[in-house]
Amino acid sequence: MAITVDDGYQDFYSIAWPILKKYGVPATFYVTTGFVSGDLWLWPDQLRYLLTKAPKSQATFDLGLFHIQTPLSADDFESEFWRINQILLMADDAEKLECLASMARTWQVELPKCPPEGFEPVTWDQLKEMQAEGLEVGGHTVTHPSLARVSSEQARNEILGCGKMLEKMLGNVTRSFCYPNGTPDDFVGEQVQFVRDAGFSCAVVAFADDGEHRQRYAMRRHASSSDQFQFLKAVSGIELLGMKFRGHHLETRYD
Ligand SMILES: [Zn+2]
Repeated sequence: MAITVDDGYQDFYSIAWPILKKYGVPATFYVTTGFVSGDLWLWPDQLRYLLTKAPKSQATFDLGLFHIQTPLSADDFESEFWRINQILLMADDAEKLECLASMARTWQVELPKCPPEGFEPVTWDQLKEMQAEGLEVGGHTVTHPSLARVSSEQARNEILGCGKMLEKMLGNVTRSFCYPNGTPDDFVGEQVQFVRDAGFSCAVVAFADDGEHRQRYAMRRHASSSDQFQFLKAVSGIELLGMKFRGHHLETRYD
């Protein structure tokens, strides 16, 4: 069993790692290299930031891919965030960013170029420090696109570029890879070869069935949440046992 955390946020360093280290839990932190380098901030964070700046007046805004009514009450905030998040997940990157830019324009909000407080990435020095203490720093692409939605060449650059950056900043050690979003619709079989070419030893997805680790470049993961019962089911193996019992299995091969 290992704990994995995705994306590269600062709070992994300040909150999660001290606990994982204290209890000697094997862990991998999958980082989006462009995010750590300060070249971008992740679009769901841009959306969350913009929603905190929603007008206080009563109005309905047509933002192309979706409509939104203001003001947003504290009770509606999370459900609205997830509703729009799901819609944007289905859009391609250019459409998504244009929609967020138009939201910013319409609401006259200046979208900062770098992630503001609360959305910051871990630094390369912090990654170096944690790696020396036993953490595996894995790859999670350069800009975090859904790999099934970009061209084959872009997917290749995202995967190889990420591997090269990790090697440059953190040295040449064995690492694994994690597909952004990680559902069966977020990557395609041929991309496994890019993951191999980049030197990654294996890869993980973000869904689970009874496949466990049989597919080396699509190792299953059990999701966690702030719900402690769900966390216990995942780490104790009870969830996996239930899947085996029900014969819950995806036929797709990724390697
Ligand atoms: Zn991610």
